[in-house]
Amino acid sequence: MIVTDKIDEVRQHRWADPSLTWGFVPTMGYLHAGHLSLVQLSLAGNERTAVSIYVNPTQFAPTEDLSSYPRNLEGDLAMLEKAGVDLVFTPSDALMYPPGFQTTVSLSQVTQPLEGSSRPSHFTGVATIVAKLFNIVQPTRAYFGQKDAQQTIVLRQMVRDLNFNVEMVIGPTSREPDGLAMSSRNALLSAENRAAAPVLYRALSAARAAYEAGERSGELLRETMRGMITAVPQAKIDYVSAADPRTLEELDKVEEGVLLSTAVFFGKTRLIDNILIYASENTE
Ligand code: AMP
Repeated sequence: MIVTDKIDEVRQHRWADPSLTWGFVPTMGYLHAGHLSLVQLSLAGNERTAVSIYVNPTQFAPTEDLSSYPRNLEGDLAMLEKAGVDLVFTPSDALMYPPGFQTTVSLSQVTQPLEGSSRPSHFTGVATIVAKLFNIVQPTRAYFGQKDAQQTIVLRQMVRDLNFNVEMVIGPTSREPDGLAMSSRNALLSAENRAAAPVLYRALSAARAAYEAGERSGELLRETMRGMITAVPQAKIDYVSAADPRTLEELDKVEEGVLLSTAVFFGKTRLIDNILIYASENTE
């Protein structure tokens, strides 16, 4: 497995044999089974797989958890080596954002609600770093998790708008046995908050069950989630949402499909989760 923090070296390996397909999994490290499920999809669907590990400072607001974000490069590299990854890119901040850096990628609409309304600069940071990583790695396919539902929508839109020559693949959310979506941030939870955190998925599942029983009122689906989450004293709701899966506008009435999503604080740690429902099928 090649591990490098140099752009030239990534390009040299990527293009050593241009006939090979490359899958790419961008991550912020502190890898868990959710990341590895994307790596497995990439390994299965491509002749070569690259992973990046980079905690991108521009997607964190000054008040957020950049400095406490968990890191374990050695452990991550051991997991990726064992999985059979070909190349890991571990750039430095100085390489990604050298003095004089001044270009950003920002999207005007799908970035506004939900995560965007709580974290106004977040998606500009995400879109900018992913655009840079796509230009460096030039993968055939790129793999992202449904766990970050709005991110998948933002990045698909960016790929369309800027004509990136990359196929986007979205993998399902990996969960702990109690339903909690796997997240590097789960490591930051106290024991008490960790015990309370599965309420996100319970609330989303209850709203899905209401939908499956015929409920089509967006507000009643949101109220189902709100009621369950507010019953847990450790949980402070940032938002609950039942939105159009394409535009992310809140729905009064569900017709074609609905993205149920929520963001909840447990102490200083903010967790997100979602369930995507299409009229004809369910995916998470
Ligand atoms: P992160 O390291 O949090 O930036 O995540 C890197 C990639 O892994 C993103 O595409 C995430 O959506 C994805 N991911 C994070 N958690 C999960 C999970 N529990 N299941 C599947 N994919 C995930």
